[in-house]
Amino acid sequence: MKAVLWKGPDSLAVEDVADLRPEPGEMLLEVKNCGICGSDLHAAKLGLTLVPDCIMGHEFSGVIAELGQGVTGWRVGERVAPLPLHSCGGCERCKAGEVTFCTRGARAIGWGDIPGAYAEYARVSPQDLVRLPENVSFRQGALVEPLAVGLHAVRQARMQAGAGVVVMGGGPIGQVCTLWAKREGAGCVVVSDPAEGRRKLAERLGADLVVDPGKQDPRSSLFDACGREPDVIFECVGVPGTINEAVQMAGIQGRVVVVGVCMEPDTLMPVIGIMKEVELKFVLAYTKGEFQEVVDALAGGGLNADAMITDVIGVEGVPDAFKALAIPNTQSKVMVEF
Ligand SMILES: [Zn+2]
Ligand SMILES: [Zn+2]
Repeated sequence: MKAVLWKGPDSLAVEDVADLRPEPGEMLLEVKNCGICGSDLHAAKLGLTLVPDCIMGHEFSGVIAELGQGVTGWRVGERVAPLPLHSCGGCERCKAGEVTFCTRGARAIGWGDIPGAYAEYARVSPQDLVRLPENVSFRQGALVEPLAVGLHAVRQARMQAGAGVVVMGGGPIGQVCTLWAKREGAGCVVVSDPAEGRRKLAERLGADLVVDPGKQDPRSSLFDACGREPDVIFECVGVPGTINEAVQMAGIQGRVVVVGVCMEPDTLMPVIGIMKEVELKFVLAYTKGEFQEVVDALAGGGLNADAMITDVIGVEGVPDAFKALAIPNTQSKVMVEF
């Protein structure tokens, strides 16, 4: 099968590799679409958990091609969107749908352990995927994973109807937070990003107001627009200093939801948060229930995220796409299609 292999820092190659077979208890998936994620770019550069010749790709959809030994409840040909992991399915966390925190240690797809979906086929776990109805396209199916990140972040924000919201950072994660904040009843959402292309896209996805943080203060822009202090701030940048900025921006008893992944030590001024009783909440991934909810929302027609997809490429285009995405540009979600 054709696959994109990670060779080492900043080095990807498209090669023909041995066909995958499902291990007992697994299924083989024919991959239809896989989105390129910002964290793939980080990992490709830094290595992190990757090992040479591993296959990345964790935002994907496809068709079940083969059932491994002992698998029941699924048929070859079913359209699905997998969660990018193999959980144990039996521990308390898994039973509650919190598969990311599987106490036996969920194995990740696309991070150096189980091969990912920048490939024609992938090995998936029967308890960690959801069916795609006919009216949800494979491209939309590959958006379920990032959309679920946004839904989880917004649920963890415990947002009240009519809330004033600031989304710091208009990349794909800021975009999914914007979509769900509006859908879950935010009164006013201000998206702040220095890149004009991202601000335009945030507007198409429902932001009430977009600002360039170098020129306008998101907090006063929100106040001018709807007379509210920020009740919730989604930090979707993930570089040192942004959590402190978010705490400074928050209103009285406001909540800062940290979705951006900062990999360096950071500092913040606690007294600023104390004086306003700001709540700080870190979030990771999603539950299986939220994953299903995203599919239901896409099938119901009320959630339109198609504007997030700015490019569709073949698997041969992946190495060049990684290089292009490393430099700020107008691309948002680049979708690999098989
Ligand atoms: Zn991702
Ligand atoms: Zn488990």
